Amino acid sequence: MSQDSSPTPDSLALERLELALASSDLTLWDWDMVTGQVYLNAQWANLSGQPRGESEVPIEELNQLVHPDDSARVLATLAAARSGNTADFAVDYRIRRADGTWRWIASRGRVTRRDENGRALRMTGTNADIDERKRDEERLAAALLEQQAILAASPAGVFLVGPDRRLMLVNHTMETMFGYEPGEMIGLSTLELTADLDEWHWIGTEGYARIARGELLRAEVRYRRKEGGQFWGLLQGVAIDLADPSKGRLFSAVDITDRKRLEEDLRRADRKKDDFIATLAHELRNPLAPIRNATAVLRQTGTQEAQRAACLEVIERQVGQMALLLEDLLDVSRFTRGKLTLRPEPIELTTVVTHAIEIARPQIDDGGHKLVVVLPPAPIWLEGDPTRLAQIFSNLLTNAAKYSDRSGTIRLVATVQDGAVVVAVEDQGIGIAREHLGRIFEMFSQVELALDRSQGGLGLGLSLVKGLVEMHGGRISVESEGPGRGSRFVVELPERGAPPLAAQLPTPAPAAPTDTARRVLVVDDNRDVVTTLAMVFEIEGHEVRRAYDGAEALEVAEAFRPELILLDLGLPKHNGYEVCRQLRARPWGTTPRVVALTGWGQEEDKRRTQEAGFDLHLVKPVAPEQLLELLGEGPKGP
Ligand code: ADP
Repeated sequence: MSQDSSPTPDSLALERLELALASSDLTLWDWDMVTGQVYLNAQWANLSGQPRGESEVPIEELNQLVHPDDSARVLATLAAARSGNTADFAVDYRIRRADGTWRWIASRGRVTRRDENGRALRMTGTNADIDERKRDEERLAAALLEQQAILAASPAGVFLVGPDRRLMLVNHTMETMFGYEPGEMIGLSTLELTADLDEWHWIGTEGYARIARGELLRAEVRYRRKEGGQFWGLLQGVAIDLADPSKGRLFSAVDITDRKRLEEDLRRADRKKDDFIATLAHELRNPLAPIRNATAVLRQTGTQEAQRAACLEVIERQVGQMALLLEDLLDVSRFTRGKLTLRPEPIELTTVVTHAIEIARPQIDDGGHKLVVVLPPAPIWLEGDPTRLAQIFSNLLTNAAKYSDRSGTIRLVATVQDGAVVVAVEDQGIGIAREHLGRIFEMFSQVELALDRSQGGLGLGLSLVKGLVEMHGGRISVESEGPGRGSRFVVELPERGAPPLAAQLPTPAPAAPTDTARRVLVVDDNRDVVTTLAMVFEIEGHEVRRAYDGAEALEVAEAFRPELILLDLGLPKHNGYEVCRQLRARPWGTTPRVVALTGWGQEEDKRRTQEAGFDLHLVKPVAPEQLLELLGEGPKGP
């Protein structure tokens, strides 16, 4: 304030200003740059915390209140205003209050008088308390930083969409997901990201309506990458501010293509399984009708011998068919659970092929097909399980016969190439469409091919064949020029050198059955099983006793002292294991040959029967000849 008592124009202006500020929180300052004194009005007390009313303090004292971090900035701004480089002085900084705390103020002012050389003589202005605002800003900045970190760290694409459906903000995940460069997506319409126009419309209408109701929008949508290519995304969206749609909607998106693919695979597998069960039921029921008819004919009195024989043949063939189906099923189950084990030994290819042809022969002959076999003249040795190797080729030969029109030619051609035995099975049959070639070795693949089901089969054969080939260290492939053009299956197996001579000798044939009558006990709770088993032995002149539960079996055995006991495992009143254990404990109990005859053929079952004292574990159905062979080996000595 001027010391002069008469009001100068300056002091008048100041007075007016002071009046204007009296009702506000603003501090008025007026710096006499000649004396270095600064006038401060009463409001300064609120700001500085110093209990002084109107006051006049040296500029140095005020400068000392400025926060050390801010002082350079303040001085520079001041210097600029003072020299006239900037019209006004305006700077925000912190000052130390009387209690030692810091407070943000906004200082505004201007040079109000200069001498003729332009040197600043006086500066006037205001200080405002902006502490609250500054702290808000700091909090906001921290929150923003945090948000940016969250966005960057998010595994989901995050994007803000404006009311015009253009992108206002995206995170890096989003850019990577859609194949854009950083910053490139801002301003892009969401239409550019969409692979399905209907979905895009739906989101803009129904989807946005949900968002407007405060619900979370959740949808699976198809997206398009910048360079083309589509993927499935899971989209979630909310409104930033329900009251104000102009603030946009916030979305997240994750790529769920893999999940979608898995879902589809699962659905496909499930459909296949359903189809398979239907086919299985069909295939198992098929043989029942002829069997039922044949038994009805057999029951009629006056049936001719020739008719009886024909009926029996029907039954045998159909039962054989069912047994094959079940065998395939069990094999597949063993295979998929890794329970299928090989008993490998050196074996010559001719032996394998001969055995395979034996198995497939009925089907080849039924179709009136011609079979041409071309094998190299020198013996070719393989290392493998003889039964399983034969199964591989009998399967391929049977298929060739099944899927050819009548009187076709089937060729089996073997060669040796680079240490591999290559066996091709070719036919001129119905062929395979290109699109099915890739899936033909999958389990249950048949059903999808919509072939005439009367061909029979479960679509398991080839998947089993492939598994067996691979278990033998080989591989299998298929070629076909298309429907009607025949098929060619090629199996490659590693060749091995010829084994030492001794291993090549054939194993001695089992002893020929003796023709003296033997004592046989048949135990099963299924009367039909007992009747037919008993018949097999009785027809050959053996003496048979029957039992239908465990207790009865023990009783009959005690009196009858059988040489051979055929024992079912699941029996009422002592199961088969129990019966065997008790029998073995009797003084004569080690003598008879005890054979488990059961539907359970897993390794675990076999281990259990062995533990219980059984000599042998046979899985039903067993061919009559095999049953009779059990006697051929004679009872065990004590
Ligand atoms: P199945 O013969 O029991 O149906 P497979 O696994 O042996 O099952 O065969 C699967 C499918 O492959 C068959 O249903 C058939 O459609 C096709 N297929 C197999 N072998 C041939 C072949 N030689 N010619 C044409 N199609 C074949």
